[in-house]
Amino acid sequence: MINIVIFGAPGAGKGTQAQLLAEKYDFLHISTGDLLRQEVALGTPVGQRAQAIMNRGDLVGDDIVVALLARALEKRSTHPDPDSLVDPWDRQRHGDPHRPEGCIIDGFPRTVSQAQTLEFLFARLKRRIDLVVAIDVPRDELVRRIHERAAISGRADDTEEVIRHRLDLYDQQTQPVLDYYRVSGLLVTVDGSEEIPDTNRRICSAIEARW
Ligand code: ADP
Repeated sequence: MINIVIFGAPGAGKGTQAQLLAEKYDFLHISTGDLLRQEVALGTPVGQRAQAIMNRGDLVGDDIVVALLARALEKRSTHPDPDSLVDPWDRQRHGDPHRPEGCIIDGFPRTVSQAQTLEFLFARLKRRIDLVVAIDVPRDELVRRIHERAAISGRADDTEEVIRHRLDLYDQQTQPVLDYYRVSGLLVTVDGSEEIPDTNRRICSAIEARW
């Protein structure tokens, strides 16, 4: 059992790496960006509120993001008929060897206040964060990658001006979160400037060293 938070500026490849790790180690993968995009795609009231904020590259309010995250982590307790749902965490109870034993969270926390909220959510589940992986990529390379991705992703927040804004927000709001985790000894920084498999190898070594 290991619970991991993965960090990276837009373009660092955190979503890609989180996906690869979830497959390799059979983790529950929770991406707050994906949860929000799902709400937008479904046209829910939450999605309608989030859409304009995301398109500007701003941070969606904690009320929305925390509720989505809590729902993903605690599916059973928020469902009217909890027994009808598969507990996303518990593989023994459901006799399913493929249930995830740990989780990887990508896109959260993005502020120190969100980091405190995450601790609270995990404490409620009697779990804790074991490792925080930060993927480090120089800014020039981030901009280059996002431009490349923009051509195929069709994401409304992948335009020049919005990209710069998202990168600035990451520096201002999210970098301090890394200091928060550095102090608690949970932080490992890996070089993410090379190819996807290179970064993946580095992250896997960091995970296996802690496991
Ligand atoms: P990226 O890392 O490339 O910005 P994400 O998919 O993680 O991509 O996030 C996309 C957008 O979703 C963010 O720009 C923000 O608007 C919103 N978002 C995702 N996670 C959070 C969060 N924890 N707090 C606030 N907004 C969030």
